[in-house]
Amino acid sequence: MTTEKIPYKIYLEEHEMPTHYYNLRADMKKKPAPLLNPGTGQPLTFEEMQPIFCDELIKQELDDETQNVPIPQEIRDFYKMYRPSPLVRAYCLEERLDTPAKIYYKFEGNNTSGSHKLNSAIAQAYYAKQQGLKGITTETGAGQWGTALSMACSYFQLDCKVYMVKVSYEQKPFRREVMRTYGASITPSPSDTTNIGRKILEEFPGTTGSLGCAISEAVEVATTNEGYRYVLGSVLNQVLLHQSIIGLETKTAMDKYGIKPDMIIGSAGGGSNLGGLIAPFMGEKLRGEADYQIIAVEPASCPSFTRGKYVYDFADTGKVCPLAKMYTLGSGYIPAPNHAGGLRYHGMSPILSEIYDQGLMEARAVAQTDVFEAAEEFARVEGILPAPESAHAIKVAIDEAKKCKETGEEKTIVFGLTGTGYFDLVAYQKYNDGVMDDYVPTDEEIAASLATVPQIG
Ligand SMILES: *Cc1c(COP(=O)(O)O)cnc(C)c1O
Repeated sequence: MTTEKIPYKIYLEEHEMPTHYYNLRADMKKKPAPLLNPGTGQPLTFEEMQPIFCDELIKQELDDETQNVPIPQEIRDFYKMYRPSPLVRAYCLEERLDTPAKIYYKFEGNNTSGSHKLNSAIAQAYYAKQQGLKGITTETGAGQWGTALSMACSYFQLDCKVYMVKVSYEQKPFRREVMRTYGASITPSPSDTTNIGRKILEEFPGTTGSLGCAISEAVEVATTNEGYRYVLGSVLNQVLLHQSIIGLETKTAMDKYGIKPDMIIGSAGGGSNLGGLIAPFMGEKLRGEADYQIIAVEPASCPSFTRGKYVYDFADTGKVCPLAKMYTLGSGYIPAPNHAGGLRYHGMSPILSEIYDQGLMEARAVAQTDVFEAAEEFARVEGILPAPESAHAIKVAIDEAKKCKETGEEKTIVFGLTGTGYFDLVAYQKYNDGVMDDYVPTDEEIAASLATVPQIG
């Protein structure tokens, strides 16, 4: 242990930056279950995925063996513009909580898109460019992923077509304008630009759309336009691979000062930031080299880990995507309106699902108003206005630090602060006005949704 005082922010020198992504699957004895073709029920092959996804990304998706995947120089050059992201020692929060715990957070909101999603967006855009594609398509809900992808596409001069859930397109114009500023074309979904969109509009005139519908449109456009492929911002193995940059930087920075975390905490929507943050630590755990307590935090309104089932399910509401074995609430599950848009997905990363099923990780579900209370407490002492998604991790970090005060334990806690809350001020307004609700689904509602999952195996 070094005697040097730990700085408020631990940065890395350029030569300390990761040169490879870390593929956690390589160290898993029992691998995550493969994606299945919904038509045949068989594992999806490279050839079957080729019309939808970029070739190199399919290889990464299917590769359970290569431990360290080189990060191409062009991606590393882009990362230099906003990475390393700061690892901050939350001295002010510790003092306010009067806790003996040592709290650190890894802040991913220091780029224009405002979240960790840019880490994977730039990689995906790079591989699309390498393949000589004209452009990529995607869906976005509240807009974090679409914003990140727009930035990545403009950097590599790729066309970017974003299908944005209509209600968000109308109610959340700011991220939309960021995307347009970066040159992306944004279509409110459902739209009359696709067969599936026209069909949905005919069946449900006046619908304000859903993520599942936007996915179906984006996939249709990718597969029917020469030189286009579809990309996704979370859940998939490849996305967790790219997000390992978060954990690798965190571990290098902590190792530099001889710090070993006892506890690692992250918010879990589709699992990409958490999977990335914990990757190198979980690797050590799997190899029997070290032990860490790892906690996934999800909203009580969308409790995939804590109340879902580990089964094969459709990845999207429209049932056009492959089947994934994951903790799921059922692909038709519609969570109560929750302001953490990035945590409203019905399923979870197959990698994290397998890790959780093996008992290597815990999960907690937290109520929305408690999350905003923690967000406010954090903002007032640490200065950063957190995204509601990120505040889920803050909530549990604060809970654990308070427990340390009771027991006198000097635990080292690190959590992922995935983004800023500047575009989420309507949610803060609701909280400040005291009109935010804490709807938690009943067992009957979850059972009804789970009854619709396909019977596989
Ligand atoms: C999308 C998002 C999340 C959740 O997504 P994961 O894939 O689970 O990481 C968390 N925080 C922010 C700020 C997001 O934009």
